[in-house]
Amino acid sequence: MKKLIRGIVDFRKNVRPGVKDVFARLALGQRPDTLFIACSDSRVVPNLFASSDPGDLLVVRNVGNLIPPCGASGDSSGADSEAAAIDFALHALPITDIIVCGHSECGAMDALLRGRAQLPSAFLRNWLRHGDASLQRLDSGASLGAHFPRHNQLSQLNVLEQIEHLKTYPIVQERLEAGRLHLHGWWFDIKEADVYAYAAEEKRFRLIDEDYAGVLLGRTAESGGD
Ligand SMILES: [Zn+2]
Repeated sequence: MKKLIRGIVDFRKNVRPGVKDVFARLALGQRPDTLFIACSDSRVVPNLFASSDPGDLLVVRNVGNLIPPCGASGDSSGADSEAAAIDFALHALPITDIIVCGHSECGAMDALLRGRAQLPSAFLRNWLRHGDASLQRLDSGASLGAHFPRHNQLSQLNVLEQIEHLKTYPIVQERLEAGRLHLHGWWFDIKEADVYAYAAEEKRFRLIDEDYAGVLLGRTAESGGD
């Protein structure tokens, strides 16, 4: 906490003069094109690893980067927060891309592997049910890279599962069918500070190095994005 307070003083002195105009412009409104869904984990810092600026990303973070699926009645099957953010992102903002970003050494994935019934927190036990289908994928033999430890394999499968959950929302389906929305799975390797993107054609997560970034940028240009 002390570091945060000292950090504000440092920000005022050294950073604020250079970004004041940017924030003054952003005060008039935000126009992010990407909804970024990540884990609450303190080591996952999207603005740092994607070198993004204020105004670039609308962010939803929760334990395990989970999206409660939308029920048949149109209600989210979990807390309202994620459903509200999806609605807000797609109705009020010019969002064209949604990224679900998992990460290595995720405590939520570890808890799922150990069995969420063991967790002392009823809230956590309940919330992590949105990862049950990811665990079922792993238990039924699915893997995107057998060389990864099991909790990291689960974390990668969980990214794909949560993308499926996103597709249960009518507004997401509508935009996908109209070609106005693209869904992406990313994965942050904490130890190496590397970011991976899911390559559907290879059925694995691929490191976003300069070469693969070129491929991804080419696809974005084809779909008309920035
Ligand atoms: Zn996590």
